[in-house]
Amino acid sequence: MAESTTDLLVEMGGRLRHLEEQNLLRQRRVVDGPQGPTLVIDGKTYLAFASNDYLGLANHPALLAGARDSLEQFGVGAGASALITGHTSVNEQLEAELAAFVGAPRALHFSTGYMANLGIIPALVGPGDIVFSDRLNHACIIDGARLSGAQFRVYAHGDVAQLERLLAKNTRPHPLIVTDGVFSMDGDIAPLPELLVLSEKYDAWLLVDDAHGFGVLGPQGRGSLAHFGLASPRVLYMATLGKAAGVAGAFVAGHGTVIEWLLQRARTYVFSTASPPMLSGALLVALAVIGTEDWRRVHLGQLVKRLREGLVGLPWQLLPSETAIQPLVLGDNQLALDVMADLRAQGIWVPAIRPPTVRKGTARLRISLSAAHSVEQVDQLVNALRGAAGRMSEGLAR
Ligand SMILES: *Cc1c(COP(=O)(O)O)cnc(C)c1O
Repeated sequence: MAESTTDLLVEMGGRLRHLEEQNLLRQRRVVDGPQGPTLVIDGKTYLAFASNDYLGLANHPALLAGARDSLEQFGVGAGASALITGHTSVNEQLEAELAAFVGAPRALHFSTGYMANLGIIPALVGPGDIVFSDRLNHACIIDGARLSGAQFRVYAHGDVAQLERLLAKNTRPHPLIVTDGVFSMDGDIAPLPELLVLSEKYDAWLLVDDAHGFGVLGPQGRGSLAHFGLASPRVLYMATLGKAAGVAGAFVAGHGTVIEWLLQRARTYVFSTASPPMLSGALLVALAVIGTEDWRRVHLGQLVKRLREGLVGLPWQLLPSETAIQPLVLGDNQLALDVMADLRAQGIWVPAIRPPTVRKGTARLRISLSAAHSVEQVDQLVNALRGAAGRMSEGLAR
């Protein structure tokens, strides 16, 4: 091997060691079997509070049957991009039902949420335009904005006053305001009514990424816009289908003109193989379950309340979230890993989230609840966390 190649690898090895020294090296775990309240991870069974399967649909028998039916009818692969021959009747039906479900004229189905934002944002704005983005927006929003070549301005998390100051100073036409509907690592809901007012006042697009709100918030789980009773032709509503909907993929819904534009111009839509039809088969069933089984959201709400009441008085800050995402901020990277390990020793799996996923000094346990959890399982987590807190403070005293 040429020496210069070896140097490259030595240098990269050094970078990996640097990550390890900062407690930032991430480790994959191997999961066996389907999603559920308990998971087999690296061969051991844990009670898990780690997934985004908020309604417990990822292994729902009716969704499996929906996938199987479409599998029989359409085979495994879509065979081509949607604009060639990959757009099947089941995808067509899914788009129509998604649009109706969120109260928009039309929807476009993407293979993943990441690809959706990488496609949508550069199709809406380009060099010469400007994007205003909440500080805590998801990585794929930031990447989509970068890819667009538009100017990128960040406002402090949820700070509509700062956003208005930035909008008032802006001279570029039709700016884009983009926000998570529910923030993925904090669990709080974006101030959507205020953002819509600003987008109207300053003639801006408003793109809402509702990865964590769709299926969970609003009447029948219609999402964060429905939660506030909002609708507007200047809003683009994007949501993912691998979280509460339990499958995979994403969609964007909005005015027919803008959806047609995205269909023509979103490069991750145009130049990527269409999503497998069997996933659309499962998603049609998911949509029916989301819309009719209110008990899942009611139960989830009860679990959130139970957890929050149970954790009162812990030495760590539970962020003020009313959603399925309940972040317990520990601050220090090593402490977050230590508490995660303590819980794991008790048979409970809660992921520690560290920078760069969250801001430095705000390492946390991201507790995510699902309608598939029982009250007893949440109590088990509460007791385990109380035990861990006691052990951590003893450790400090020693
Ligand atoms: C998970 C997530 C995505 C990415 O969606 P995938 O379908 O998993 O690629 C996009 N935006 C937000 C806010 C997310 O939490």
